[in-house]
Amino acid sequence: MHTCSHTDCKLPGVIKLEILQKPLWEKDEDRFKWFCEAHAEQTEAGLDKAEGYAKRVEIIPAVGMGATAGYGSDSYPYTVIKISANGKTLVVQADNHKPAPGFDYYSNQVYTYTPNPEGETKTFTLRDNGRWVLKGESKKGGLRLGLGHRRYYQDPSF
Ligand SMILES: [Zn+2]
Repeated sequence: MHTCSHTDCKLPGVIKLEILQKPLWEKDEDRFKWFCEAHAEQTEAGLDKAEGYAKRVEIIPAVGMGATAGYGSDSYPYTVIKISANGKTLVVQADNHKPAPGFDYYSNQVYTYTPNPEGETKTFTLRDNGRWVLKGESKKGGLRLGLGHRRYYQDPSF
């Protein structure tokens, strides 16, 4: 069990970031840090892109964590609501989304997300290629789930 690296945060660390900043780049032995979901996002957003970047190298599924599943170019946000004892099956529930300040359908699709206890649920299983795929679908071509972020997106060209 890891703890979030952010000052005073006592939440479990569930997302491991590799933070690379000039001029240290790969030489910084301290470049791997665990964060809770919110502080991982805050750390990523706060990095000056010209001076460095952060990469998610490991994500431990947790109940309450955000997730995103995509069909083609469209994306839908979910919340993890259940994880099996062996950690290889999880159930997610569709979130509600509404346009956030600055929203523009064509140039800036930004939303705020809230869990919806009535939302549709889906079950995903961890495959031998390390990916979460909808239960019953093949690892090639099946619906995939990304953990640790929520995104609703509709391709404006359709
Ligand atoms: Zn935190």
